[in-house]
Amino acid sequence: MTDISSPNSTSGRHIATDLFTDQPSLIGSRCSNCGEIYFPIRSSCSQCSSENLERENLGNQGVLWSWTIQHYMPKPPYNSGETKDTFTPYGIGLVEMPSGVKVKTRLNVNQAKALNIGDPYILALKPFRTDENGDSILTFVFDREIG
Ligand SMILES: [Zn+2]
Repeated sequence: MTDISSPNSTSGRHIATDLFTDQPSLIGSRCSNCGEIYFPIRSSCSQCSSENLERENLGNQGVLWSWTIQHYMPKPPYNSGETKDTFTPYGIGLVEMPSGVKVKTRLNVNQAKALNIGDPYILALKPFRTDENGDSILTFVFDREIG
C-alpha cells in the first residue's frame, strides 16, 4: 500500500521483525544479569549464559567505528532486486552506539573519501527492494549526520 498523504515518508514492510522501529530506532537486548548489550536481539547472553534478556532501545545515533565498501553484488540470500549490471556499491560499517554495542550496518555512503572513522552517523530507513506484490521492503542504514 502506498501512502499518498505523505509522499516523502518512508513506509513499507520491515526486512525482518524486531530489528528497528518506524521512528526509527534500533532494537537490541540487554542481559538482566550482567548488563551486556546485543544487536540484534538474542535469547541468551554469551558473557554469562543467562537467558534473562530484555528488549533495549539502542537509539538512532552512533559513531563510525570501522568501514569497508561492498564493490560487487553479494551472493544469495542477498536479494535486493538488483542485477550484476544494476548493482550499486555500498558502504558497510560498524557503528558504535552510545551503549557501546557495535552494529554491523549498511551505510548510505559509498565513497571512501567520505567515510571517516569517528564521524557521527544517524539511523534511517531505506527501501531495499519491492516484494512480489510491489510493496516496499525497508531496511536500516546509517547516514552521515550533517550539521
Ligand atoms: Zn549476561
